[in-house]
This record gives sequence, structure tokens and C-alpha cells, in this order.
Amino acid sequence: MSARLLGAALLASALLSPTAVAATGSAFIVQDGRPTAAIVLPEKSTRVVQYAAEELVYHVEKATGAKLPIVCECDSTPDTAIYLGDTYAARDTGINISALPAETFQLRATAKALYIVGKDEDRDPLDRDTSAGTLFGVYEWLERELGVRWLWPGELGTHVPKTRTIALRAIDLTVTPQLFQRHVRTGLGFTSGNPALGFTSKAAEEYAAVQTVFLRRQRMGRSEKMSYGHAFTDWWEKYGKEHSDWFQLYKGKRGPEKPGARYAMCVSNPGLHQQIVKLWRDKGGAKRTSGPSFINAVENDIVGQCECEKCQAWDGPTPPDAMKYYAPNFKVYGTRFVSDRYARFALAIQQLAAKENPNVVVVGYVYFNYFQAPTSGVKLNENILLGFCPSAGWYPRKDDEHEWYKRQWADWRKTGARLFFRPNYFLDAYSMPFVFAHQFADDFQNGVRNGMVATDFDSLTGQWAIQGPSLYLLMRLHVTPQANPGALLADYYAGFGPAASQVKAYFDYWESYTMDNRKLIHDVFYDRVAIRWRTWAKAPHRVFPAGSFGPGEALLAKAAAAARGNPEATARVEFLQTGLAHAKLCAEVAQQLTLADPESTVERGKGKLAELLAFRRKHEREWFANLGHNAWVEDLSWKLASETKQPADFYP
Ligand SMILES: [Zn+2]
Repeated sequence: MSARLLGAALLASALLSPTAVAATGSAFIVQDGRPTAAIVLPEKSTRVVQYAAEELVYHVEKATGAKLPIVCECDSTPDTAIYLGDTYAARDTGINISALPAETFQLRATAKALYIVGKDEDRDPLDRDTSAGTLFGVYEWLERELGVRWLWPGELGTHVPKTRTIALRAIDLTVTPQLFQRHVRTGLGFTSGNPALGFTSKAAEEYAAVQTVFLRRQRMGRSEKMSYGHAFTDWWEKYGKEHSDWFQLYKGKRGPEKPGARYAMCVSNPGLHQQIVKLWRDKGGAKRTSGPSFINAVENDIVGQCECEKCQAWDGPTPPDAMKYYAPNFKVYGTRFVSDRYARFALAIQQLAAKENPNVVVVGYVYFNYFQAPTSGVKLNENILLGFCPSAGWYPRKDDEHEWYKRQWADWRKTGARLFFRPNYFLDAYSMPFVFAHQFADDFQNGVRNGMVATDFDSLTGQWAIQGPSLYLLMRLHVTPQANPGALLADYYAGFGPAASQVKAYFDYWESYTMDNRKLIHDVFYDRVAIRWRTWAKAPHRVFPAGSFGPGEALLAKAAAAARGNPEATARVEFLQTGLAHAKLCAEVAQQLTLADPESTVERGKGKLAELLAFRRKHEREWFANLGHNAWVEDLSWKLASETKQPADFYP
């Protein structure tokens, strides 16, 4: 390479990223706004590879204005090439796709070529069960080389720094996602008895499409189809007559307390263990040779409450702080501490099934009165996988409470079991500027440090414009679980260009507001008239009284001033302003229509509600919020007339 070319390559690299490494040679992918490389696909390319190519073309064009051509390896050998998927050229460099684990990719550059090669399946690239290594490799490269960041779903949230030139730079890395399942339930299925509060039907479809693309850009997916969930809900009907001893002994009798009531199992009963293993064997679980063979042993959705002697003998000593962080009106309060029996239950099933297949993995939950770590010294193992599902402890937490929750995770890990995170915390917060980004990140990373292998978050409510930092960390920690949360948020704020520090100050205000008002929040929800995950819209005006919005509006006005002259930054600040105006309006409507106030009448809230509906129709396609979720919450929170019971398309 000549000195002049080397200089040009280094300059291009330096413009691309502060962490730039030396260029591999004189090759460019785009030079001065012109495409100078082609994307080369294998003759038989999968749907994943085709989609990966489209994504690459789209983002490179957005960055440079240059549209890279896509060619087949069978027709063409361009001078400078980006090879995607299983090409002969990639094989010639020694990349062995068959040896790659699911969802894995390799990025490798030579003087004239970049190889992005992953473990792919010829299935829908957006389906979370499709191994899409090459697609993930494209995303990794876009992040590293072009500084692309996906801030929220849709075009406006797609942050692609502008550049005229992309040099081909040295890279050699192999990446497998650290978590074998990365899942945030999409929240696309929320339905409401008052659909007019939500999206119009076409907007709902479009929102679903852009969110689905966005989640894949954040590498959501899984390499193992783990199935679990409350496992015994129909067992009383099926087996109650013949095997009542498999069911809870409660208040002197076996089975549900009343017909139709939920029931727990008699988890120490060997007959129950044998039946669970039999069903697994009948479905081929014992014969499954590749990968883990899962058994679902998740208790029904009720506290563990069998009172038989054997179950009680399995229990460990009750820890002194067993009830310390539960409110006296919470259903776990006052129940017996039964974690050890559930640990032994999972162990008994695992040991029985392992005789037939050593790869068996028993899935259970740590939940309700078996959430706190066991105390008897019971030893579990890696073939027991427990869903960490706190039933209280909503953010914001007090410091000691937060440490208590983190300790439960660490102590469960010490039993030898593996864990996956299965919280309900992201159902919280409705449409409000309720921001708990750092406390959540600390919780997540405590798990990562202590054996977290998967996630399943219930659910994504999609309040992008008002809860941005929490949602951005939720996404990015799935991609880079060890990353510094402050650095991740700096990326998010950088998307606001010259207004970055003002936007940070804005969200810092709301995060401090949220963290500092723990007592207020606790008091509002204490009586359970309004419920965090379901009927938040009964109380937003109590958590966020009218006076709380002023400082937020003033901070956003400063951000708008700083963004002036930069159209993209201006549009993104306006997006935040839409989110804030919407939140304020929701709080105003709630004050008039909340079911928590016996004085609420349809008439009283009519004007404000009309304003809210008009606002939603005007802004729905900006994707500032999943209005389907808002409608789902408001449905059970507000006193509403029949107008909103028709589809959004016909109202107002
Ligand atoms: Zn029992």
C-alpha cells in the first residue's frame, strides 16, 4: 500500500469510529459516496442470507448514499467483495460452517474481502426460532464499523452516522450469543374491550412489522426450544380421581380447596415424579440425543401449600427475613417458606429422568413462597434450570431491598442450578415517564455474573418515547450482557446529536423522580385498587401530579433548542415531546375517569378523552408507543362510554 492510500484508509477509519483499527489493505466498500464492492451470495442462499443482504444494503445506503450491488457467486467475482453465508470463497478461507453452534457467526476480513458467515436455517429470518447467524453477523458489523444503533422501532429510531467512505478493515471474530434464549414477549397481542383507545387496524399491523424487525436487530431469538409454564393446571381433572395423593393436602383434604380453584401439587410424592417422567418419555424425551431434553416441572400459579408430612419434612428452616420485603396484604405474606421442597422436587425428577437420558434438563420456577433461596443446604446441578420470577420487588426498590433480591439470585446459583430471568417488571409503568434503567440494569447484570443463561421478560409494552432508557438497556443488555450501562446509554443519547447532554438531563430528571418517589409509588399501589401490571391507568395522576411535568417540559425545550439546525436530532427530540405530551394527557384523562374514584363519570372525562383520542390518531404512526398496550390497561382502569368499544378506525 502506498503512503497516500494508507493515509486515506486510516483517515476513513478514524472518521468511522474512535476505536478504529488499521485497514487491511487498499480496499474500500464505499469510496466518496460510490459503491466499490459487491455483496456476494452463495448460489443456494437461504432466506436468512437474502434478508441479511437486504439489511446490509439498506444500512450502507443510509450511511453513504451508495447502494451496494448483490451478486451470485455463480456469476461474478468482484474485485472487492462482502461474502455472506456459505460461499465457496468463505470455505476456501477455512471457515467451517458445520462446526459453528446455532446462532453463531464469524466475521473475517482479508485484503480484498469481508466474510460474514453464520449458522443459518432456511426459514423466516424474523422468526425467533430461526438460527440466523449471518444476519447477526451483519448487525455486529454495522454496529462496529458504521456505528449503527437501533434506538427504537422504525425509521426515525434507526441511527446511522453519515459517512462518504467505508474502508475494508481488519476483523476476525467469532460470536455466539451469551444467552441461549433472549426473549422479551412482544406485547403485540394485547387486546382491549375498548379498542378505539388503541391503534387503528392498519397502524397496528405496521407497528407489529417494524417492532418485529427491531427486535431481530437486537438479536432476540433462541437456540433451544425450551418449553415451560404452569404445568399441572389440568391434572386434577385428568388424574384427581385415581391419584388424589399427587395433589396438595390442604385444610385436611387433597386437591383444590373448592371446585375450580387453583391448587398446588404434593411435590414430594414419588408417584407424581414418575408420572412427570413418564409423560416426558412418551413424548420422546428419553430418546432425544442432541442438546438438552427439557421437562416442564413448573408448579401451578399458586403458592406452594401442601401440608402433608413428607412435603413439610423437605422444607428448610425459615429465614428470619422471609417476610421482610413483602407487604402484609400480599398473598405470599404469612405463607410457609417452601423453597427447599421445590428444589428437592426438581432434583427428584431430574435424577429419575437422568437414568434414561443424562441430557435431561428440568425447568422450574422460583416464585411466590419458594422464591427465597433454600436454607437446608440442598445441592442441585446444571441440569436444573430455574426461572427467577420475583412476585414482588417492583422498581424502584430501596437499597437494602434491592440487595436482598440480588442475593436470592446469587444464593440460588450457589445450589448449583442454572437460572433464567423471568420477571414481570416490564409490564409496569403504563405510558408514564417512570424510568428505572440503572436499577434494572444492575439486577440484570447481577444475574449475568451469577449463571444467567436465558431470559423471558413479560412483556414489552413499547412505550419508546417516554421510557427510552429503560427499554434501550433492556434491548442492549441482551446483545452485550456485560457492557457498562452508562456507556450503553451514552450511545442512546448520542442519537440526539447536539442535544445528547440535554436529553440525558431530561431522562435523568425522570429517573431521579422515579427513584426518589418510592414511598409515594408504594403508597399509591399499596391498597391494590390500582395494580402495577394491569390497571396502572387508575393512578398515573397520583404518581405524576400536574406539577411534575413542568421540569420535564422545560428540559425538553432545552434539548429542542440544542438540536436546532439538525433535522434528525430535532425530529428525535420531537418524538420525546410527543411521548411526554401523551403521558400528561393520559394522566389528565385518568384523573377524570379513574375507576378508583366513585365520583368518576363518563361525562366528566369526555372532553379530555376526545383530546387523547385525537392525539393518538394524529401521532400513532410515529411508533412513540404501542397503543395496544395502553388500551389494554385503560380498559380496566377507566369509566368509559360505548364509543370507545368500537374499533379505532371509526372513532372519533
Ligand atoms: Zn405433600
